[in-house]
Amino acid sequence: MRFNLSISLRLTLWFSAIFLCGFVVFGVFIWFDLSASLGSGKDRTLGRRYERMVDLLKHAEKDSDALLQTKYREFVDATPEGGLIQVYSLSGERLLPQAGSAAMQFPWPAVPSALAEYRSDVWIGNHPYRIYLRSATLNGAPVRICVAGSLMDNVSLLARLDEIFERSIPAMLLISALAGYFISHRALRPVVRLTESARSITIGNLAARLPVSPAGDELAQLAETCNEMLSRLEEAVKRITQFTADASHELRSPISFIRTTSEYALRTPGLDAETTEAFENIVSETEHSSSLLEDMLLLARTDAGRAQIVYEQVYMAEIVREVVARMRVVAKEKRQRIVERLPDARLQLSGDAMLLRRLVWILVDNAVKYTPCEGRIEVALVRNEQRALFTVSDNGIGIPETSLPHIFDRFFRVDASRGEQEGTGLGLAIGKWIAEAHRATITARSIDQAGTTFEVAFPLNGNP
Ligand code: ADP
Repeated sequence: MRFNLSISLRLTLWFSAIFLCGFVVFGVFIWFDLSASLGSGKDRTLGRRYERMVDLLKHAEKDSDALLQTKYREFVDATPEGGLIQVYSLSGERLLPQAGSAAMQFPWPAVPSALAEYRSDVWIGNHPYRIYLRSATLNGAPVRICVAGSLMDNVSLLARLDEIFERSIPAMLLISALAGYFISHRALRPVVRLTESARSITIGNLAARLPVSPAGDELAQLAETCNEMLSRLEEAVKRITQFTADASHELRSPISFIRTTSEYALRTPGLDAETTEAFENIVSETEHSSSLLEDMLLLARTDAGRAQIVYEQVYMAEIVREVVARMRVVAKEKRQRIVERLPDARLQLSGDAMLLRRLVWILVDNAVKYTPCEGRIEVALVRNEQRALFTVSDNGIGIPETSLPHIFDRFFRVDASRGEQEGTGLGLAIGKWIAEAHRATITARSIDQAGTTFEVAFPLNGNP
């Protein structure tokens, strides 16, 4: 399974993981170092007790047993953990009596005879001890001195350290995760800005460029590279647009020449039916071609940012009424009913009257084209809060759901064969451009084989 984590989240996880590893390594090092120094501290203490015991035995060489035992008791009383010192003969016999209950309860280990020096840790119940065993001499004979000392303080200190680590690691982890997220978020902010700027660049504003940070870092280089690419794209699009505009323009005259010549030829008296039909076909094809060329020319101009838009206050209801009146002629032939709903005759929009007329024409013309005979079309213009809603609904052939997202694309036609209709596939692309030039949104809702509604929502406040 693949997880798509954002870069800032991945950086945060890495940051936290590295921090955790560092903290664990540091903690383990501190723990062992402290444990070793506490252990060697204990060894030094036991060593000093051994030295003092050796000293006592040396000074008691000529003393009687009773005196030696008295001195031993005094030594035991004066020494911390003094009871945990024993003197053995080489055969393992205890040479001095147990002094105190601690010494009596202490499970003294069997004394290994061959070892000169010996150290070991033992647990008695829950209590840890270190035992230190070393040779010495008493009255010229070799003896073994066994010194024991509690390791409880060391163990408690290390347990406390464990506790501190257990509590601080989650807290440190949280802090490092937050810090990692904050730092990565900050570091990636320029990337977010670049993404937003790049997203706002479309074919309509290819002259825009990404902001280049003055830091001259990797992101600045990326922005510069993207800008160079945009320049090349802009140049290429300009050339294509210019070519489309020139080609459309150049083709206008020959096509209109063919059309007028064919119309003229049609007037020739005595033409047979076949020739007449051929000329009629030429006229109809040239009509289609010139409207295609006009549409292409307009779109090429809009792409190049050269389309002329003259904004003024227009009475939208008037424009709608005018277009509908002209469309009624065609609708009548198909026995279609066009219903107008224009409650607000004074509704004014800031826009280009010619372009708005074209937009209304495209939508009503499509409704008539794609609605069968005797169908019903409703054209409405209503005020809705801060918007003017212009809608064209029909109960025609509808648009399949899969085609709906593409109907505003250039040259898209649902299926040229499904209707008998002539068309270029550019009408709605032009309509969308006109709507956007007026800061309006254009949307389509449709149910296949049941009908379609186009809605254009114009903002009523301010000029475009
Ligand atoms: P065309 O010149 O083909 O009408 P448009 O860009 O105006 O081009 O429309 C694109 C396509 O959207 C049309 O070919 C048609 O299939 C579909 N269409 C547009 N309006 C309607 C409508 N009112 N009802 C059904 N289909 C429609």
